[in-house]
Amino acid sequence: MRIILFGPPGVGKGTQADLLSAKLGIPHISTGDLLRTAVTERTELGIKAQIQMDAGKLVPDDVMIGIVKYVLGSKKCAAGFILDGFPRTVPQAEALTGVLNDLGSALDRVVSIEASEEEIIRRLASRLSCGNCKRIYNSLDDSLAETKICPNCGGTLFQRDDDKPETIRKRLSVYTQSTFPVKEFYRKTGILRTVNGTQSVEKVTADIMEQLH
Ligand code: AMP
Repeated sequence: MRIILFGPPGVGKGTQADLLSAKLGIPHISTGDLLRTAVTERTELGIKAQIQMDAGKLVPDDVMIGIVKYVLGSKKCAAGFILDGFPRTVPQAEALTGVLNDLGSALDRVVSIEASEEEIIRRLASRLSCGNCKRIYNSLDDSLAETKICPNCGGTLFQRDDDKPETIRKRLSVYTQSTFPVKEFYRKTGILRTVNGTQSVEKVTADIMEQLH
């Protein structure tokens, strides 16, 4: 299956994509994770992207489209994928249609995970990520704020620079302006489904699974 998990930052796309990836046996492709790896490795892409990421802005479309074209064309995505964080603009969505077309395939589903802005801000401000296995935790729910040790792999948990309050506001305004129109783009194609992201993690996964039929 070729799936997009759509929704604002912090709504749970990454967590759900990991769970679905294990259930469905297809890779989780997070453009944010790909960029963060490039930043850590100080590649040319990483050095350039970090400026936009730290400011809560979008990395240019042509750069993102190039990355996604490369990854989706690779062997690991041959049986399908779960895309998280892409497309974030209508031109990216249009380019994705072309990339898949060239590969002789097409999207099966776009699942939009929904939550109120207050809930998103609360989650982003308390989000902790593992630098090693990339799992995501909530410092309020999981009382991990003190130990900062990942229960999954023992890696160190950290707050992403772009999860600081000023950057959160910028990212949400970028989402409303540039990314929200992507939902309308997919609504018109008939493959868009929505789920309520403010339920338990397990219930959200079950709802997404139901929408994939
Ligand atoms: P994420 O982990 O998906 O929240 O992405 C973190 C940051 O990476 C975003 O705030 C953007 O700066 C950048 N980024 C990730 N995916 C994209 C994309 N599809 N288009 C543009 N910028 C992106």
